[in-house]
Amino acid sequence: MDPDRVLDGLDPEQLEAARALRGPVCILAGAGTGKTRAITHRIAHAVASGVVTEQQILAVTFTTRAAGEMRGRLRGLGAPRVQARTFHAAALRQLSYFWPQAIGGPIPTLIDSKAQVVARAANSCALQLDRTGLRDLAGEIEWAKVTQVRPADYEKSIAKAGRTAPIAANDVARVYEAYEEIRRERNLLDFESILELTAAMITEDPGIADRIRDQYRYFVVDEFQDVNPLQKLLLDAWLGDRDDICVVGDPSQTIYSFAGATPSYLTRFSAAYPHATVVRLVRDYRSTPQVVQVANGVLHKSDAAEHRLELIAQRPDGPDPTYTEYDDEPAEATSVARRIAALIDSGTLAREIAVLFRTNAQSAAYEQALADAGVAFTVRGATRFFDRPEIKQAVHTLRGARQGADEEPLVTTVRHILGPLGLTSEPPEGRQARERWESLAALAQLAEDVAAARHEATMADFVAELEARVATEHAPEFEGVTLASLHSAKGLEWDAVFLVGLTEGMLPIIYAESADQIEEERRLFYVGVTRAREYLSLSWALARAPGGRKSRKPSRFLDGLRPASPSLAGRRAERRRKATVIQCRICGNTLTEAAERKLARCLDCPADYDEELLERLRVWRRSAAEQQSVPAYVVFTDATLQAIAEHVPTSRSRLSRISGVGAVKLERYGDAVLALCAGKEPAEAADGRDPDDE
Ligand code: ATP
Ligand code: MG
Repeated sequence: MDPDRVLDGLDPEQLEAARALRGPVCILAGAGTGKTRAITHRIAHAVASGVVTEQQILAVTFTTRAAGEMRGRLRGLGAPRVQARTFHAAALRQLSYFWPQAIGGPIPTLIDSKAQVVARAANSCALQLDRTGLRDLAGEIEWAKVTQVRPADYEKSIAKAGRTAPIAANDVARVYEAYEEIRRERNLLDFESILELTAAMITEDPGIADRIRDQYRYFVVDEFQDVNPLQKLLLDAWLGDRDDICVVGDPSQTIYSFAGATPSYLTRFSAAYPHATVVRLVRDYRSTPQVVQVANGVLHKSDAAEHRLELIAQRPDGPDPTYTEYDDEPAEATSVARRIAALIDSGTLAREIAVLFRTNAQSAAYEQALADAGVAFTVRGATRFFDRPEIKQAVHTLRGARQGADEEPLVTTVRHILGPLGLTSEPPEGRQARERWESLAALAQLAEDVAAARHEATMADFVAELEARVATEHAPEFEGVTLASLHSAKGLEWDAVFLVGLTEGMLPIIYAESADQIEEERRLFYVGVTRAREYLSLSWALARAPGGRKSRKPSRFLDGLRPASPSLAGRRAERRRKATVIQCRICGNTLTEAAERKLARCLDCPADYDEELLERLRVWRRSAAEQQSVPAYVVFTDATLQAIAEHVPTSRSRLSRISGVGAVKLERYGDAVLALCAGKEPAEAADGRDPDDE
């Protein structure tokens, strides 16, 4: 790719960062200012201009999902072979590869949860702890390991760090020591040991150091404000005495210092590298001015004003954020689910909506409420998509069916193949079965996306796309609302974000006591607010259960953010006026007239599809949805209806090529839709003849 082409669409500061191809670079910027975007373009630019090859770059991101997204973007920018991984994944690869040479003997077993070993260790110290107690203790051992504190130094170190131990500090130290002993005896590796051993292997074995440093010469780290001392140790081992390192972060989004991370590597980067190029970004491209105003307001009240960056909104106006108080939690969940269903009905994609909460336990109420409202959802933090057994099996079967499977349209074929594996027309009951179904539905959705992007796409194309994704572990987004904790939402964005459960005790969380801990909770709130592109809903409930005592208070972080309540009438008028920004889909002008807003174009711009047909399709969809008591988007999404009105299909096979029309929908609604497209009423088709097929 042309080195300059990959810089298209960057603003002057982003350009400065992307053009600084050598030496240390630090991008210090607020949420939504395009940090992640700037570094992916910088990487592509470095490759395109021949400064470094794709294989020599190691891009480190915070979560597997973020790594997957980064690989996706790099593929789009013509650099598919760049390694984008988490610290953990990158270290594990190197450690497994060099294990025989560096250490020898059987490779240890990886443990992804410390719970069992900690329980054993506590037992051996004659300590009785319940599950929560054990979890806290495991967290404490993790903190000690990432901050490189040995058992013998634990007590001293927490005193210095102003940290309170979950149980008596000398007991923590004893369990920690026992934990490490049991772990070594049984040849187990936890997350921290993987990083520690990799760093040690590099610093102690010059041969291995040479080979790893020869392979990776160019480093990029996203979300650098949340790097912990152990990760920094590994990064320094990778770098050696070189300085081709680019770090990116936002001190106001430090949300893992409870776990040992520290923003000081970011804030003191230019002290460590005095010749570093430092770039600050302030333009917020993600969110509307209304959302940005809330975000700035959240930080404004923070004590840590020193690194605060005021965001400047770049997008057109959007709806005002809403602040809603409910009597109890179920009422809050039900209402949020209803509002989500309404958003989807009016055209927002489900995958562009998120419900974010402080603790994972809050998820259940929203899973229930969304299921009741007939809204599909996905809970973050589950197994990686292509690692799920049903997906492995499905990919295997699809691969086998790649030859001679192109008599039918791609989407139909894929659905036929996935049917026997569990892709029924309606989601089944039961959590496990439902998860399996959702995975398969995501795969079918991917086939629809491939077919929509290229009408003549074949099974072989689809399988090739799958293989590319398996290789890059890039899971397709399931077509559903995301439920996620604030911690796992970092770096991500959605059109509509519902921040729920905003009460004292939940945010800030009850055990946040010191001023530092409260500040971290505030930053967590800031991360939540800044995930929203357009719609932002903030809500809380005064009681836990219906009829319960309304003893809760809204979060202190809401103080001063909520508009001083103007008269109700005034508010309503305001809401009507500002409802949402609708732009002309042809020329992009903001529309103010009701008639134009309904059409989503200026009256004098040419229509790009049959609007009269679209209106009739909508009317039909409403009654079809009512008949089956499902939300309208379950019948067809707005985008699908629009595509139908654009193509006006005259046969079943043409109709089946439209994205969103799978085998099941073709079967169920094909006749009605084709009748509407032929200018008839849907009922006429029932007794009339079938439209001719090709
Ligand atoms: P966070 O701090 O939340 O990780 P970020 O700084 O990494 O945010 P990005 O995710 O890179 O921000 O960008 C936010 C959004 O703004 C994305 O949708 C991105 O495509 C868009 N964006 C970034 N820069 C530009 C630009 N120069 N022009 C148009 N859109 C942009
Ligand atoms: Mg980012």
